Amino acid sequence: KLEGRTALVTGSTSGIGLAIALGFAGAGAKVMLNGFGSAAEIAKARAAVGAAMGVAEAPYSGADMSKPEEIRAMVKACEAELGACDILVNNAGIQFVAPVEEFPEDKFDRIIAINFTSNFHAIKAALPGMKARGFGRIVNVASAHGLVASPYKTAYVAAKHAVVGLTKSVALEIARGPVTCNAICPGFVRTPLAEAQVKPLAEKHGVSEDKALTDFLLERQPTKRWVEVEEVAEMALFLVGPNSGSINGSALSIDGGWTAQ
Ligand code: NAD
Repeated sequence: KLEGRTALVTGSTSGIGLAIALGFAGAGAKVMLNGFGSAAEIAKARAAVGAAMGVAEAPYSGADMSKPEEIRAMVKACEAELGACDILVNNAGIQFVAPVEEFPEDKFDRIIAINFTSNFHAIKAALPGMKARGFGRIVNVASAHGLVASPYKTAYVAAKHAVVGLTKSVALEIARGPVTCNAICPGFVRTPLAEAQVKPLAEKHGVSEDKALTDFLLERQPTKRWVEVEEVAEMALFLVGPNSGSINGSALSIDGGWTAQ
């Protein structure tokens, strides 16, 4: 159902972004990838998404989401190589966990830049083309932490709340046009970013990794299981599809009931 559409998914060499890129390509879109990783990881992602697109390798931009000029160049490259940027998924993100008094300033600034400010720069760059072509879908991957907080994640929680705010404001500006802007708010999803938090919790509390997962990391995720990347990809696919034009400015939860509490 995405035949003829083009998409740019940031942070798509791994985790949620890669699953979204695969989902879009499988639905018929041409997708440009972005993100870091080893040459082998990037080649593997390009080959996998390329296979779903029926080409040897998917187009790729190595733009650093902390650098505004690289973000602008990435959007231009997508428009040049794919002919358009109909769908923009702002997904790249990093995490760092520390008490606020000990939070390194450079880490704080980097999380705000990559997880939040990059969304502004990409939207600003992509929106004119979407309006001119008469179709656009912007999906920002926020988090349950865009709606509620946890301790020791000040930068991440602030950045994700900011993403939800940006989403709403952009949505109101463009409401009468052919473009929508929404946020997805996942709970804990089985990806390298989240799995990396299990071991430190097990060590901190002196428990097994299984127990650290259910009792500590998923403390507030009532399903007590990871959200799977394919589940998030399916939600993104719906948001960019033909019947989603009335969903605008929403922050859609996919969190196993976390924010129902
Ligand atoms: P991940 O670590 O698997 O993937 C992150 C991606 O972002 C990778 O492709 C990485 O290379 C890329 N990236 C990191 N820094 C970058 C930079 N400066 N420029 C360009 N790309 C960069 O993580 P994930 O769990 O798939 O996270 C994807 C998004 O989902 C993030 O925004 C994250 O905050 C959000 N999220 C994740 C969870 C979760 O539990 N995993 C929950 C809610 C929200």
